[in-house]
Amino acid sequence: MTAQSSPRPGSVGTGSVILVGGGPGAVELLTMAAVTALEQADVVLFDRLAPNDDLASLAPRAILIDVGKRAGNHPVSQTGIEELMVEHALAGQRVVRLKGGDPYVFGRGSEEVLACHRNGIPVTVISGVTSAIAVPAAAGIPLTHRGISHAFTVISGHAPLTDNELEGLTLLGSTIVVLMGVGTLPTFSQGLLRHGMSAGMPVAIIERGFSATQRTTVSTLSTVLADAAAAGVRSPAVLVVGEVVRLAFSGDTSAEELVARAAAFEETD
Ligand code: SAH
Repeated sequence: MTAQSSPRPGSVGTGSVILVGGGPGAVELLTMAAVTALEQADVVLFDRLAPNDDLASLAPRAILIDVGKRAGNHPVSQTGIEELMVEHALAGQRVVRLKGGDPYVFGRGSEEVLACHRNGIPVTVISGVTSAIAVPAAAGIPLTHRGISHAFTVISGHAPLTDNELEGLTLLGSTIVVLMGVGTLPTFSQGLLRHGMSAGMPVAIIERGFSATQRTTVSTLSTVLADAAAAGVRSPAVLVVGEVVRLAFSGDTSAEELVARAAAFEETD
């Protein structure tokens, strides 16, 4: 057997690391591969937005380590997380690094894979359901709809976008999904307006997707700042900018017009 397939707690030799995408918080959205990896784990390093409530039963033999990061308060730094991961794997443990959503969507998963490579640790990645798609869906918003939107762009709102990026997004006309975008909402919405996106473009902000307190605020590009402030919108939230937002409200006349337009597109296609 190889070290990769048979690491045992306390055994001599290298263990392994599996980066697991935990989805946006609901246990039901874990993949079967994720569940199996958790069952077999000796150590689980988990994040704030990963599904954490049932971890003790999902990973019954594992030591559970909370490395969750909150905005402005980082209990364990990224370097610290990588060191912990490497240290446990080098001690022969099967380490699961459980992350929110998908490990490769703004999750710093790639940095953690590289840290394993640098230390000669076998590492695999299990993709997860990303909040970029699933949280809008949980609010009834499809990112694409034939005849309305045939592309979507997922961006990080962690830092403000450049003028080139804002212009590119406006020209592309795709549905725009922003993660980590609450803090940069002022520069983002004003930037899109400055580059010519229509003031009435629908915007949705979905907070705390899949939790009991999930909430959607619907607005337009020119009013979203005031509406978000009035609602007290906070992270974690997914922003969606695009005509597809209207599809979530099927009783709404504007949605009916939109669907009729899309249906006309189908007929001519
Ligand atoms: N890798 C993750 C994203 C990490 S960035 C993924 O694929 O989903 C963290 C951001 O994801 C948050 O700031 C928020 O924008 C979004 N997010 C993750 N889970 C969420 C949830 N349950 N509800 C709303 N937003 C969420």
